[in-house]
Amino acid sequence: MIINLKTLPKGHSDVAQHVVLSDEQRQQGGLKEPVACSAAIDVLQWQIHLSITYACSVELECSRCCRIFSMPLRGTFRVILQDANSPHAECGEEDVDFYFSWEDAEVDTRGALYDEIITAMPLMPLCSPSCKGIQAPHAQQSTAATTGLQEECDPRWEALKKLKQRKS
Ligand SMILES: [Zn+2]
Repeated sequence: MIINLKTLPKGHSDVAQHVVLSDEQRQQGGLKEPVACSAAIDVLQWQIHLSITYACSVELECSRCCRIFSMPLRGTFRVILQDANSPHAECGEEDVDFYFSWEDAEVDTRGALYDEIITAMPLMPLCSPSCKGIQAPHAQQSTAATTGLQEECDPRWEALKKLKQRKS
């Protein structure tokens, strides 16, 4: 989300935003549409705390059948912004996601949203839990038959076969 510091009220506020990520992020993340976000924002003395809920759909390649399918993703995460001019941190430095200055017009937290979406994606995406993988035309045949089919189809096997025949 992009937090407008000039219009941000002190204390608690709620903001909804359709977040458009960069072209590169959209491509790599398989995101066709903007990400619907809503945030609960708390402005403290030196920090801004955000609790961001997002919902989007991502295009993934099924790890079994290699088909492209779209999967809904949603989640909530926290972002802590720290005033770069503060004399002390209100929490450990490691908890701070972004630094800002009240002189800035806005704080861009889209990097955190992108990271969150990427880590929420399954490592082995499946188009459906019962996906049977790539279906060969003769999938019903035995393994031996399938291997035979490969030998017929794959030109590399063809070359190897010729080589073997020549040797014998
Ligand atoms: Zn599949």
